[in-house]
Order: sequence, then structure tokens, then C-alpha cells
Amino acid sequence: MDYTQCPSCYRILDKATISANQHQCHRGRRKKRRHLQRENKFHASIFKPQGIPLKNNKIITLTPSELEAIRLKNLENLQQTEIAQKMSVSQSTLARILQEANKKIALALSKNYALKISEKE
Ligand SMILES: [Zn+2]
Repeated sequence: MDYTQCPSCYRILDKATISANQHQCHRGRRKKRRHLQRENKFHASIFKPQGIPLKNNKIITLTPSELEAIRLKNLENLQQTEIAQKMSVSQSTLARILQEANKKIALALSKNYALKISEKE
């Protein structure tokens, strides 16, 4: 399966979705500002496979919310209810954020893509 990423909302889209024009982008709609309590500010925001120049590689972008959700779940071992509360999102939104984040990380690592963490949502 071939994937690409929406340049506006950073969602991972498969080619079938794009060709069927099924992706309804949130672009233009104001995003709700999510509460992020990141303990450590990260410095390097691009992680890339060794030996592949960045300009020749695909870059998958992870949003700050996605990183925060993954961190709270996997490092802080919080329950999804607690995470949703901390991030001021509904549980279904959190579930979607986690699913998207996992997909992106799995995709980047398994396909040797670079992984970038964006500064904004
Ligand atoms: Zn989009």
C-alpha cells in the first residue's frame, strides 16, 4: 500500500483515499487549541535513517499533540481517560490522535522515512 501525507493537516492518506477524493481536509477551519504540557522541549525535530539524504527521502510529520499523546500513553502510562482530560480533547478524538500517531511512527520506521515533529498542529 502506498501512502502520502496531507500537507495541511498531516494525516496519512492512502492512494485509494486520495483518488476517491474522500479526504475532507480541515484546512481553513480553525483548529481548537490543545493544551500541551510537554515536559521536555525537543530540539532536533527531524529523525532520519542513516545513509539516506533528507532531500531524497519522504518525510512523515508528527504533530505536537500526537507526540504528547504517545508520550503520555507509553512513557507516563496514563489511561486514555486521563490523557484525554489532560489534553482537553474527547476520548474519541484522543483515540483518533493515537491511532494516527501510531500509524505514522510505524510507517516511518518500517519504510525508512524521516520523521519530523512539527512546531504547530
Ligand atoms: Zn488534510
